[in-house]
Amino acid sequence: MTDFIPVNQPLLDGKEKQYLNECIDTGWISSEGPFIQKFESEFAARVNRKHSIAVTNGSAALDAAIAALKIGPGDEVILPTFTIISCAAAIVRAGATPVLVDSDPLTWNMDVSAIADKITPKSKAIMVVHIYGLPVDVDPILKLAHQHGLWVIEDAAEMHGQTYKGEPCGSFGDISTFSFYPNKHITTGEGGMLATNSDDLAARCRSLRNLCFQPQKRFVHEELGWNLRMTNLQAAVGLAQLERLDEFAARKRRMGQHYTQLLLEVPGVDLPLTSTLYADSIYWVYGLVLKEEVPFDATEAMKRLGQHQIGTRPFFWGMHEQPVFKKMGLFQGETYPVAERLARRGFYVPSGMAITLSQIEQVVTAIKDILK
Ligand SMILES: *Cc1c(COP(=O)(O)O)cnc(C)c1O
Repeated sequence: MTDFIPVNQPLLDGKEKQYLNECIDTGWISSEGPFIQKFESEFAARVNRKHSIAVTNGSAALDAAIAALKIGPGDEVILPTFTIISCAAAIVRAGATPVLVDSDPLTWNMDVSAIADKITPKSKAIMVVHIYGLPVDVDPILKLAHQHGLWVIEDAAEMHGQTYKGEPCGSFGDISTFSFYPNKHITTGEGGMLATNSDDLAARCRSLRNLCFQPQKRFVHEELGWNLRMTNLQAAVGLAQLERLDEFAARKRRMGQHYTQLLLEVPGVDLPLTSTLYADSIYWVYGLVLKEEVPFDATEAMKRLGQHQIGTRPFFWGMHEQPVFKKMGLFQGETYPVAERLARRGFYVPSGMAITLSQIEQVVTAIKDILK
């Protein structure tokens, strides 16, 4: 019996322990510690941003981004239906209305050509979410946003180390957000980041992160914020991870290329696109989509792979099909066929930072077996 291969395992064998020990030895464990500023400034430099603001997780970063841009009741935000709940949740919680677009069948990212038709006088922002490995074609979105006076929020949670036309993902639009969950390219256990070039937006994000305490009258509040502060312990791990980002990105690309090589001739599955005109995939996860001819769906494929000791995860389930939003009366009668097919036919296989080439070979053997 072979060992179970988990869908994700992080690599923590750099300076993580050394930096954590520094936190313990000095007693600096809260958000006031020195690793926070170090992590923020090195992260900002890495994504070509003037400011970075470390927060508790990537979902909270989206909440803060929406609040910093003062998006609220009566406003509409355009985003892909095929994404994580955090994106739409941030919009809905702010009292604004999410407006969805379908996916591009090849990149799985939002279909950029479908955005213009969704713009109305109520539109306030476009939320760009890079999905699974390839960046969204950002330039036409920035142009549209400029023409219509819309904010751009870039969710780069799955893209640390990826570029679009040579520029870092997370450097586009008004505010970008990141996650450091353990399945992301760099991790702090839990954690997130906001990045922006605007002094004003950065100040708003810092204030929202810290309960909107005021520098002069600390306990007098003009606005409601949250406690979204990252700890020095997390930032210590994050800094050690960030030091290895280039190596990590190269590992991810080797992982993806190895899967593709071994799966190229396997019938029954569509493989992720390896590149576009503006980027090579970084394979945040290695996703597979079952072809029409396969008589079962992703749920069954994942069950069968589980019996072969292979961990998997389903693809995102479109926002327009979420019971929680249907109960609110959102997205009535809307259909997005590409996202619906991806949700039912797509899943991803072990693709974490610590995966070995021989584990990849084991996964591929199992995939071939269940598709026989
Ligand atoms: C992981 C992820 C998030 C949420 O990040 P958390 O840190 O888990 O809250 C947001 N957006 C995208 C695209 C993600 O992949």
